[in-house]
Order: sequence, then structure tokens, then C-alpha cells
Amino acid sequence: MQDFIDQAAKNGIILLNNGKCQFCGADYQNGIFECMENYNNGLVYFDFNDSKNHIFRFMSVDAHALQHPEIHGRWSNHFHLTRLNLIIEKKQIWNYNKSPLLSDYLNRYKSNKPNEFLKAPESLNRGKITARDLTNAATAEECAQLIIKWADEVYHSWNSNHGIVSQIAEGFLANYYNETTL
Ligand SMILES: [Zn+2]
Repeated sequence: MQDFIDQAAKNGIILLNNGKCQFCGADYQNGIFECMENYNNGLVYFDFNDSKNHIFRFMSVDAHALQHPEIHGRWSNHFHLTRLNLIIEKKQIWNYNKSPLLSDYLNRYKSNKPNEFLKAPESLNRGKITARDLTNAATAEECAQLIIKWADEVYHSWNSNHGIVSQIAEGFLANYYNETTL
């Protein structure tokens, strides 16, 4: 928890602890604090022992992070937006082995581009669906469809950065393996 509070302070952001989440607009009583505590609660239907469900965790982590970029390190936005580019646009099959490879690739990339920033869309303008909505899903299938839509909305709200992350994704695929879905 301390991490996101420190990161917000570093970015000069005052965190509000009542009402809706100031970043994603999710309907809570205690703002971002409740949003951070509950963002995993919508994933209860999935059996994560089954690797075919892992994609829903990756997409929801990315969507949530990109709806709250002010409380993450700036390179973590590169990571999450690039991963969504790989999954959504490049149709990559993602798994737990590839995330550290993408981190390694980004570490090398950022040493060549120390001053590159992604431009975050305005708060509350990063997709209408939020993690809070997942808790209204009645089945795993409904939740899965909602996560796909959520990730897609958030990804598109960051469209002014798609050129940058698409190039990073291409560099990653050229250096690591490329495994597309149908
Ligand atoms: Zn939020």
C-alpha cells in the first residue's frame, strides 16, 4: 500500500479518501484507497490453476494500472501499455514467463530513451468500465467479456501513445519469441 502513496507524493498528487476513485471514477466510499484494496475482488470466478484464465489477470492488472498511472512509476505505464498492445493488437499469447522478458527488454530500451514519457489521458477519461464493475458479473464468462472490454477501452483511451508502444512491442517480438493467437 505504501508504494502507491509514495509514488503519488513523488508525482505531486493528493490522494482523496472519500467518494468515487479520483482516477478511474469507480463508485466507492473511500476513493482510491478502496479502489486499491478491491481491484482484485472481481476475479473470484476464475480458477487461476488453469493457465487459460491467466490472460484475464494480465488484462485486468494492465487496465487497472493504466487507469491509475499517477500512482505507478512512469516506466510501469510503458510496461502495461506495451503488454496490452502485444495482447490486443499483436494477438500474442501471454504467459507468466513473458512478463519478465518484457521487463528486461524495457530496461534495455529505457537506457537508450531516458527522457521518454507516455502522455496519460486525463483522470476519469481512461475508459468507463472499472474494476468495481467486475463485481457485478454473475459468471466467469460474463466477467471475462467485461475484462476484454475494459482492457480495450483503457487501451484505446491511451491512443496518443500507441505509436511508441507499438514500436516497443515490435522490438520485443524481434528479440524474443513471437507466438500469435489465431
Ligand atoms: Zn480507481
